[in-house]
Amino acid sequence: MTLREEVTAYVGLGANLGDPVATLRLALDRLARAPGILGLRVSGFYRSAPVDAGGPWYCNAVAEVRTTLTAPALLDWLQFLELAAGRERPYRNAPRTLDLDLLLYGSARIDSPALTVPHPRWRERAFVLRPLQELDRARVDDAALAAVADQAIERLP
Ligand code: AMP
Repeated sequence: MTLREEVTAYVGLGANLGDPVATLRLALDRLARAPGILGLRVSGFYRSAPVDAGGPWYCNAVAEVRTTLTAPALLDWLQFLELAAGRERPYRNAPRTLDLDLLLYGSARIDSPALTVPHPRWRERAFVLRPLQELDRARVDDAALAAVADQAIERLP
């Protein structure tokens, strides 16, 4: 399902099993080639401690996506890419090979059973705010970053 006009969306990526950096690179490569994706800008990669979950540290990034896909069609792609990375969901917040979240989709507000946009927790997480600020400084103010300053995160070289 495609729209004609172009929308700028933001996708959050996280992985904490296997080789997380390689998993993120492969997912970004696949996303860039998906139909209806016109271009990607990707933040640096970060390393963050799990929030509300156990397991190893996460590797995180945010991608700015120019797309003609509708938000549900973009979510379908993200879920397909999660499956392609071998993700299983044995229990809530289990460690995962790849987690993809649709953070923002233009200025849209969506509240359907399958999709909430903006993502309900995007402003609560340093691993979203730090990479998002790299891509678009105006979207993340210093007060938002200060509010998550207790969350352990570092930018990978
Ligand atoms: P998770 O296990 O955290 O990846 O959550 C996946 C579930 O959240 C799926 O069933 C999605 O339909 C739903 N969901 C709702 N809003 C979003 C969103 N903005 N981005 C990604 N998944 C979403």
